[in-house]
Amino acid sequence: MSTGFFYDERCFWHGSGNYAGLLPVGGLVQPSETAGLPESPETKRRLVNLLRVTGLAHDLAMQGAEVATRADLDRVHPAAYLDEFQRLSDDKGGELGRRTPFGPGGFEIAALSAGLSKAALASVLKGDHKNAYALARPPGHHCLPDYPNGFCLLNNIAIAIEAAKAAGLAQRFAVLDWDVHHGNGTEAIFYDRDDVLTVSIHQDRNYPMDTGAFADRGEGAGLGGNLNIPLPPGAGHKGYLEAMEKLALPEIRAFQPDVLIIACGFDAGANDPLGRMLATQETFAAMSDQVMALADEVCGGRLMMSHEGGYSENYVPFCGHAVLQRMSGSAIHVADPFDGVFELRQPDTAFDAYLTTVLDGYAAALESEDR
Ligand code: ZN
Repeated sequence: MSTGFFYDERCFWHGSGNYAGLLPVGGLVQPSETAGLPESPETKRRLVNLLRVTGLAHDLAMQGAEVATRADLDRVHPAAYLDEFQRLSDDKGGELGRRTPFGPGGFEIAALSAGLSKAALASVLKGDHKNAYALARPPGHHCLPDYPNGFCLLNNIAIAIEAAKAAGLAQRFAVLDWDVHHGNGTEAIFYDRDDVLTVSIHQDRNYPMDTGAFADRGEGAGLGGNLNIPLPPGAGHKGYLEAMEKLALPEIRAFQPDVLIIACGFDAGANDPLGRMLATQETFAAMSDQVMALADEVCGGRLMMSHEGGYSENYVPFCGHAVLQRMSGSAIHVADPFDGVFELRQPDTAFDAYLTTVLDGYAAALESEDR
C-alpha cells in the first residue's frame, strides 16, 4: 500500500499579513519587503518541489482533498467564531486572535487545509493508504475552539479526528506533537476527553509561554490523557530520541489508540528562526522510524502526519523529504545539505547528561502517579 500525500496549491496562497517577522509593522518596525510573518508558503512549496525534483513524488500517492464542510468545523469551533471568520474573509480579510492574519477568501483556504488533514486521516482509517501526510497550511495546533493564535485559524487535527469519529472510522486517537512549540490548541480541545491522548514535545516556554507544563495532565475524564514534555533550549538529536523512548512512546503504547497522528512541525530543526533546538534531518527520520514501529505495534501501522510549523526555507524541505522517504519506504534518499554541520553543533555530554536528568525526573513523576 502507498503513502498518501495530501496538498493543494491554494493552501500556499493563504496571506500572512503586514508583519516584519513576528512584529506587526508600525512605529519603529520597518515594513518587510519580502517575507511578512515567518509562516510563509515558501517552506511548504519548496518541500513539494523537492519531492518532485528527486522523484520521491512518484513513490507517493499525491492528491488533493475536499474542503472541510461547515458541519466538520462546527464539531470543534463555536458558530460565533466561524461566522466572524467567514464574514471578514468574505470582505477584505483581517485578523482574529493573535498573529493569525488572513486575506480575502482566507476562510475557504483554512477549511481546505483542515480538509487535507481530514482526508489524510480518513484514507488511513479506510485502508486506502498504509499511512498519509497532509501538507496543511495554515497550520492548526495552536488554535483553540474560539481563539486562533500562532498562525493557526482552525484546528486541523481536531477537525480531522471529530470527522473520523462522526463517520465511525475510529474511536481512540493519539496525537503526538513534535513541533518545537506547545500544541496548546489540541491540548485544550481534548483536555477533558478520555478518547484522545495528546502528547507534546516542545521547547520549554517558547510559545505559548504560559502553557505546556509537565504538570498539566488533563482533567475530569481526560485526567492522565495529556502529556507535556518540555525540553530546555538546546536539545538535539540525542535528547529528542531519548524523550521519545522514555516518555512519548510508552504513553502512547499504554493508551492503545486506533490510529497515531503526528502534529509534524519542523521548527525543532537546528537553523529554525522560531526555535532554539538542534534537531537534524536525521532526527526527523529517526523519529519517523520510531512512530512507524510503534504504529505497527499498537494500531496496525495506521499513521497520519499533519504539517504544522517549520520556518527554515532551506532546511524544512530536506527534513520533510526524509520523513516522507521513511513513511513510504522509497529508495530515494537525499543527503542533509548542511553536510554534517548540525551534527558538529550537537550539545556536549554535560548538556545531554542534564537533559537525561530532566527526562528521568519526568519519568519518575509519571511512575509515581496514582493511576
Ligand atoms: Zn511551531
